[in-house]
Amino acid sequence: MDCLFCKIAAGEIPSNKVYEDELCFSFHDIAPQTPVHVLIIPKKHIASTNEINSDNSEYVSHIFEVIPKIASELGLSEGYRVITNCGENGCQSVKHLHFHILGGEKLSERMA
Ligand code: AMP
Repeated sequence: MDCLFCKIAAGEIPSNKVYEDELCFSFHDIAPQTPVHVLIIPKKHIASTNEINSDNSEYVSHIFEVIPKIASELGLSEGYRVITNCGENGCQSVKHLHFHILGGEKLSERMA
C-alpha cells in the first residue's frame, strides 16, 4: 500500500518521533501550525473516521488513552486541542487516520 503514514509508522520514511507502541505512532507535524503540533496515527491503515468500525476501534480508543500521556510529556498542562480532518470538506490531505494534537499557546476559540 502506497501510504505516507503507513511508511512513517514502519520507519521507512523518517519522522521526528514522539511516541510508539504496538498500536500507534506519534510524530511531530512537518509543518506545525502551533508551537506544539504532533500527529498520532494507528499502525493499522484506517483511511479516515469513516472507516472506524468494531473491528478496528481498539486502535482509536488506545490512541485516546495515549494522547494525555503525550500531552503531559510535551508540557501541555494548560490544555490542548485534538482534531481529525475527514474527507474533502474536512480538508483531509493524508488518507490515513490521524489526530492532530495542537497546543503550546492559547488557541483560537474558532475551530473553522
Ligand atoms: P490533514 O490535512 O488533516 O490530512 O493533515 C496532514 C498533516 O500531515 C499536515 O498537517 C501535514 O503538515 C502533515 N504531514 C504531511 N507529511 C508529513 C511528514 N512527512 N511528516 C510529518 N507530517 C507530515
